[in-house]
Amino acid sequence: MMLNKFGISSTVVETVLDAEKSLEPRFKRLSFVRENNSLKILKAMQENMLSDQHFHWYTGYAYDDPGRAVLEKIYADVFGAEDALVRPQIASGTHALSLMLFGILRPGDRFVCISGTPYDTLLGIISGSEGSLSDYDIHYDEVPLKDGTFDREKIKEALEKPTKMVYIQRSQGYAFRPTVSIDALESIIEYVRTISPEVIVAVDNCYGEFTELKEPTEVGADISAGSLIKNPGGGLAPSGGYLVGRRDLIEKVSYKLTCPGLGKEIGGMFGFTRNLLQGLFYAPTVVENAVKSALLTAKVFEMEGYEVYPSSESERSDIIQAILLKDPKKVIAYCEAVQASSPVDSFVTPVPWAMPGYQDEVIMAAGTFIQGASIELSADAPMREPFVVYVQGSLLYEQGKLSVMKALEKIRAIG
Ligand SMILES: *Cc1c(COP(=O)(O)O)cnc(C)c1O
Repeated sequence: MMLNKFGISSTVVETVLDAEKSLEPRFKRLSFVRENNSLKILKAMQENMLSDQHFHWYTGYAYDDPGRAVLEKIYADVFGAEDALVRPQIASGTHALSLMLFGILRPGDRFVCISGTPYDTLLGIISGSEGSLSDYDIHYDEVPLKDGTFDREKIKEALEKPTKMVYIQRSQGYAFRPTVSIDALESIIEYVRTISPEVIVAVDNCYGEFTELKEPTEVGADISAGSLIKNPGGGLAPSGGYLVGRRDLIEKVSYKLTCPGLGKEIGGMFGFTRNLLQGLFYAPTVVENAVKSALLTAKVFEMEGYEVYPSSESERSDIIQAILLKDPKKVIAYCEAVQASSPVDSFVTPVPWAMPGYQDEVIMAAGTFIQGASIELSADAPMREPFVVYVQGSLLYEQGKLSVMKALEKIRAIG
């Protein structure tokens, strides 16, 4: 057996195989989701008559690039949206979300995040940095989640003041809270519309794509955005971000991406069109591998007596798995195991360091083909109480499974 060559002890292998066996019904459901999403993407590619000519690319202004146009049409169709922007110039998920906010909101407008405090990198966009939304007289409020779900009463109160946009973050990100499922999203959007029919509903879809049968724009969101080096890039997109949504909103955002008047008519693809399309084609399979890895991680560490979040029983709507290890040595050991299970830089030892912008030291493990790609297996943890490690991604389930075995081996040795 190949596993012998990785030096995993037979007791560890047994535990992980037991966990895997008990997850079979969950895995079956995941392959159903994968199959549906794969066919949805295949259909969009066929209906838009994707062809070899689309893989060539234009230089300079790149006016009328047919590849770029078909890529954006396919994204719009897959996400059930009127229009899309899918560009390598969008440098990250944060950049895509920033474009969404700056593109749509105007001075004097107010927007409200109803899913609690947004992801860390959004905070500087909202206020406190040079050029934040607050510098442009754009106002912000937030409604915390209540027991992990939307607080309808407080949302109603918040929407009594004039509000241009309601912002919802789907993934838990790095907060210990449940992810917003598509069903929960659909129901809260309906509720928001009964209070304020005109309000724009914008969704941070990072880490959520293809984990369920539908996307936010198919259940009432007006616009949503994410990163191509997470789920929808399928591990093949070298860079980029996307936005999908109402045509008028995508147009506004496009004027922010390039400039008023030009919008989405320009912008080279630098030869990435094929990678972005091929990555999208693979994305449901890659997401399935990542979610299976997360479930196995949850199950194995639950069986070992650790608290994990989400539990192996919960439905998944993103690819993040948190494990409460309660011990800095175990956090480091976990990250070492992830690093040592990687195809790239497997020989490197991750160490905690004082990363700019963080209060505590942070340890990160990632041996990825694309720098920072969190659809590839990676782990990170702030070195502080209560000592939680966050694990996400895995292009291959086999790699995720190996990392769980290696981590278990190391953590059992600590005791
Ligand atoms: C990753 C992430 C972002 C930001 O994406 P980057 O590509 O890292 O800038 C925003 N929101 C959520 C929920 C995320 O998971």
